[in-house]
Amino acid sequence: MSRDFTPYLRDGLAAAPEQFARSTCFEAGHLTSVNAGWRSVRPVIDAAQCTLCLSCYLYCPDGTIFKVRDEEGTLASLAVDYDFCKGCGVCAKVCPVPCIAMVDEQEGGAA
Ligand code: SF4
Ligand code: SF4
Repeated sequence: MSRDFTPYLRDGLAAAPEQFARSTCFEAGHLTSVNAGWRSVRPVIDAAQCTLCLSCYLYCPDGTIFKVRDEEGTLASLAVDYDFCKGCGVCAKVCPVPCIAMVDEQEGGAA
């Protein structure tokens, strides 16, 4: 029985099913490029108050807080990847200072 490849050609897919890998080994990739559209509040770090203790960095369940280093490679500050932060507030809860404010998404906040 011959296969109709018209849908694959019409929708612009590069390969028909017969051309996909037949094992469970696939080239690594990612599912999304942004995952934060439903966040209602966002964490804003007050860098002037931050002691660089890294608690927020370690406790963020999504790993969206990252280290910013200066030209010598020394840890200079912490920043939030707002493309993936879900606004759960764990970082603000564990910050011992505290110097992370959860700001209403509608109000903007520092991006
Ligand atoms: S609000 Fe939640 S997801 Fe966003 S940086 Fe803080 S701990 Fe991570
Ligand atoms: S938990 Fe607070 S003080 Fe510690 S690194 Fe994060 S923002 Fe800075």
